[in-house]
Amino acid sequence: MSTLSPWKDKALFTPGPLTTSLTTKQAMLRDLGSRDTEFINTVKDIRQRLVALGGGSDEYTAVLVQGSGTFGIEATLSSVIPPEGKLLVLVNGAYGERMLKIAAVHRISTLALRFEENTIPAPEMLETALDGDPAITHVAVVHCETTTGIINPIETYGEIVRRHHCTYIVDAMSSFGAYPIDLAACGIDYLVSSANKCIEGVPGFSFVLARTAALKATRGYARTLSLDLLAQWEGLEGDGQFRFTPPTHALLAFQQALRELEWEGGVLSRGQRYWLNYDITLTAMQKMGFRPYIEASQRGYIITSFYYPNHPNFSFQNFYERLSAKGHVIYPGKLSHADCFRIGHVGRLNSADVRALMTAIAETLVEMGVELEKV
Ligand SMILES: *Cc1c(COP(=O)(O)O)cnc(C)c1O
Repeated sequence: MSTLSPWKDKALFTPGPLTTSLTTKQAMLRDLGSRDTEFINTVKDIRQRLVALGGGSDEYTAVLVQGSGTFGIEATLSSVIPPEGKLLVLVNGAYGERMLKIAAVHRISTLALRFEENTIPAPEMLETALDGDPAITHVAVVHCETTTGIINPIETYGEIVRRHHCTYIVDAMSSFGAYPIDLAACGIDYLVSSANKCIEGVPGFSFVLARTAALKATRGYARTLSLDLLAQWEGLEGDGQFRFTPPTHALLAFQQALRELEWEGGVLSRGQRYWLNYDITLTAMQKMGFRPYIEASQRGYIITSFYYPNHPNFSFQNFYERLSAKGHVIYPGKLSHADCFRIGHVGRLNSADVRALMTAIAETLVEMGVELEKV
C-alpha cells in the first residue's frame, strides 16, 4: 500500500452518491459548532453560490434541507401547495411517480400526465391539460429522469406554465451543476437538487432554489414541521442557522465541492467532462454490441440506460459482481417495461476511469461467454 493513497475505493458509475475528490472528503475532517460564526458563514457562502449557479437573479433564494434529495422534493410539495391547490405532474419515469406518491401521502389533489419512459412529455398535452382544468395551481416535472437519462425540456414547459399563471416546480436533482439552468429564463419557482449529485458533494442534505416572492406567499401551507420550507428559510435568513441539527460535515464538503466546481470552470466545463465520459462510454458500448434505450436526440450525458444483451449467458447480477470485483460499480435499471442497466457519467471520474470500465466490460463479457453481434 502506498502511503499517499492508503485506500482506493471502487469507481462509482452510478447516479449518486458519486465518487468525490479527496479534497472534498478531507474538508470533513473538522468539528464545527452549528451556532459558531465560521459555520454560519459557510452556510451563507453555500447559499450564495447556489443562487449564482442558478443564473444569479436576485429574485431567488436558496433553502437547505436536511436529508436526501427526496426530502427536498417532499419539503417543497408539502409546503408550497395550498390546501385547495391542485398539482399536475408530468411523468416519464420513477422520479415523476415518486412526486405523485408524495402528493398522495399529503392528500394533495393531483393530475398525472403519464408518458412512456422513452418519451418526452409532449408540451401540447401540458397546454391542453392546463386549458381543460382551471383548478390546477402547480406543475411539477423532472429535468433529467435518472430512471433512463432522458432530458425533459423544462424551458418549454416553463413558458406554458407561466402563461397559465401556475407555480412551476422542477426536480433537477441529477442535472443541476452539469446542465446550465437559468431559473428566471425557465420561469422556475422551485428547483430541487441535492448535495451528492453533480456538485460532487457527499450525501446529507438537499437544496431548494426558490423564487423568494413565491416562497413568502406560502405561509400556513406546510403539512409537516421538520420539512416546512418557509420556516427553514426564515431560520436561515434570520440568525443564519438551521432549525434542527445540520449535517455540518456534509456542508463543509459541499462548500469545498462548490469551490472545485468553480475551479473546473463552472457548469459548462463540468458538463463537458461528463459529456466526454458519456461519449467514450456510448461509443465503446455500441462497438461491443450494446444498445442504448433512449434515442440520441433525447439522451442526456448524465446517465445512460443500456438494454441487457440478448444472450443466454448474460445475467446482470453476475455481470455486476464481476465488474465490482474489478473496481467498477455500475447500476441496475429501474424501468417498468424493459430490461436495462445503467452507467453513470457523473462524479469525480475522467476519461481514463471510463476507458478502464470499458476494458473491464469487454473482459467480463469474455469471462461470461457472452458474444454480442458487433455493429
Ligand atoms: C437522485 C434523485 C432524486 C432523489 O433521490 P434520493 O435518493 O432521495 O437522494 C430525486 N429525483 C431524481 C431525478 C434523482 O435523480
